[in-house]
Amino acid sequence: MTLVDSPATVIGGPALSQKRRLVTAIPGPRSQELMARKAEAVAAGVGTTIPVSVVAAGGGVLVDADGNSLIDLGSGIAVTGVGNANPRVVEAVTAQLNAFTHTCFTVAPYDSYVAVAERLNQLTPGDHVKRSALFNSGAEAVENAVKIARHHTKRQAVVAFDHAYHGRTNLTMGLTAKNIPYKSGFGPFASEVYRAPLSYPYRDGGLSGADAAARAILQIEKQVGAENLAAVIIEPIQGEGGFIVPAEGFLPALVKWANENDVVFIADEVQTGFGRTGAWFASEHEGIVPDLVVTAKGIAGGLPLSAVTGRAEIMDSAMAGGLGGTYGGNPLACAAALAAIESYEADGLIERAREIGAVLIGRLNALRTGDARIGDVRGRGAMVAIELVHPETGEPDARLTADVAAYAHANGVLVLTCGTYGNVIRFLPPLTISDELLTEALGVVADALRAE
Ligand SMILES: *Cc1c(COP(=O)(O)O)cnc(C)c1O
Repeated sequence: MTLVDSPATVIGGPALSQKRRLVTAIPGPRSQELMARKAEAVAAGVGTTIPVSVVAAGGGVLVDADGNSLIDLGSGIAVTGVGNANPRVVEAVTAQLNAFTHTCFTVAPYDSYVAVAERLNQLTPGDHVKRSALFNSGAEAVENAVKIARHHTKRQAVVAFDHAYHGRTNLTMGLTAKNIPYKSGFGPFASEVYRAPLSYPYRDGGLSGADAAARAILQIEKQVGAENLAAVIIEPIQGEGGFIVPAEGFLPALVKWANENDVVFIADEVQTGFGRTGAWFASEHEGIVPDLVVTAKGIAGGLPLSAVTGRAEIMDSAMAGGLGGTYGGNPLACAAALAAIESYEADGLIERAREIGAVLIGRLNALRTGDARIGDVRGRGAMVAIELVHPETGEPDARLTADVAAYAHANGVLVLTCGTYGNVIRFLPPLTISDELLTEALGVVADALRAE
């Protein structure tokens, strides 16, 4: 099997042929073997979207052990924005591997951790004085943002929103809205977590952003009380909850209320960050300046890293030793992050996210015109989704959604689903995908809708 049959024409990754190519059914025999071993060796709670055994990935494709080349519209859940095995990342991590692999920053510090903090402080919204702290996963960073907000405000309550997803650890499960599969049977959950209604333009009758914010604020004031509230946490565009873009004005009104009431406003930009939406951070689309920004996923080209970045007076509240962890800001991950940030900048990937968005929105809206089952097309930049419904009632159609995804997978296109009602297909291609591959993949999605 030769993986390389044409020179790389893309920014990221090994020189893989940028083609969809199926040489076996999905899964092929080697992938089936791996799935059989997985069933015997790996806990059942660790699910998989597509039953393949990946051996290489780059540009806009994933190659499996049977030689199938799949178009990647998931980026490992919005992680490999700079492309898999991005050459800048590979070079930086390789050099770091040969220098040292770990000291624990809180024991014996090193340059790259500080450099990542400096870059985050520059890149996140607002020109106030900032500090950053680094962690390993999105959930761990969310936990720390809440810790920091509580320590700073000396208050305990935290408000999260309907359809929110913030992770799988105990506190972040509590912040997450969806029961199955994230919460069911995993309680008890952390206390002092409250939920407020979101702005969900497709499903709230077109409530304006201002009115949706007023509704949320009224509920917070009546049920929690600002004087008890340490933080509100929100994804500027909800990820797992269904790529819900709140109505214009919703986020600015919440920020204004939080500022007036000394409540820490935390933007969970774990999925929306790092160029994904056509800006460094999705908060920028409405000009909001969060007090704390949580980042992870797209930050380091696939290496595990996350961060909390925010106002110095809030971030500096905790005493030395109050924040940290053995691996947080691991030198390999920091080297990767610096290289990934360089790639976003030098390779024009944020601009590319906007171009990808125009292709996605254009093609999906055209599909929607002729297909009443596509209730909504929404998103920003390279973070776009369709919500599938029963045309007569507008009720969510999770079965159609699962069938379309299964058809796409069988035909060599990796798409992800999401949404509280399981009826959203989301598109999160690597920002290194070519227009040709993207268009071909959308053609397969169109075929899938036609076939169902
Ligand atoms: C994925 C995600 C998380 C959790 O990140 P992990 O790295 O999986 O812990 C938190 N918030 C949002 C918005 C996410 O998309």
